[in-house]
Amino acid sequence: MSLEHLWAGWRNAYVTGATGSPDPAGEPVRDEPGEDADHCVFCRIAASGPPSVDNGVLWVGSTTLVVLNAYPYASGHLMAIPLRHVRSLGELTDDEGSELWTAARLGVAALEAAYRPEGINLGANLGEAAGAGIPRHLHLHAVPRWKGDTNFMTTVADTRVLPETLASSWERLTAAWPRG
Ligand SMILES: [Zn+2]
Repeated sequence: MSLEHLWAGWRNAYVTGATGSPDPAGEPVRDEPGEDADHCVFCRIAASGPPSVDNGVLWVGSTTLVVLNAYPYASGHLMAIPLRHVRSLGELTDDEGSELWTAARLGVAALEAAYRPEGINLGANLGEAAGAGIPRHLHLHAVPRWKGDTNFMTTVADTRVLPETLASSWERLTAAWPRG
């Protein structure tokens, strides 16, 4: 499977609300026209308080956070998100852009320490046509990868069976989070 196929799959990488739980029916979080920050799942996460196993947030900086994807493509699948409801890279301030990259670096370091993956996909789907499930609030994905995991992902992309719970992923990444 090509990288393009993997990233296209992220159109279905739904996330849970900060106070909700993953939709058991697996219905997508719709990004309806006119959706604003009041109805944005990422904004709800940004307002959900300090990192905890309940909100899935792993780290909060001054302008960005890192949170587990509630519908991961692999255990540990996380996202770096600006706290502010911005759609595009061009809307980020210099500080936001800088810290978003810091957040990505920290998340990748934690993934490497916690899971020892053979590779990591790091990137963004900018816009709906690029596969963004929530195109109105910018986010970067980081997904740990292993050789041979592609067949698994191809065949069961819609019914992923993961070896650990989100709570376990949160504990594992929090324990491995870079200090200082
Ligand atoms: Zn938002």
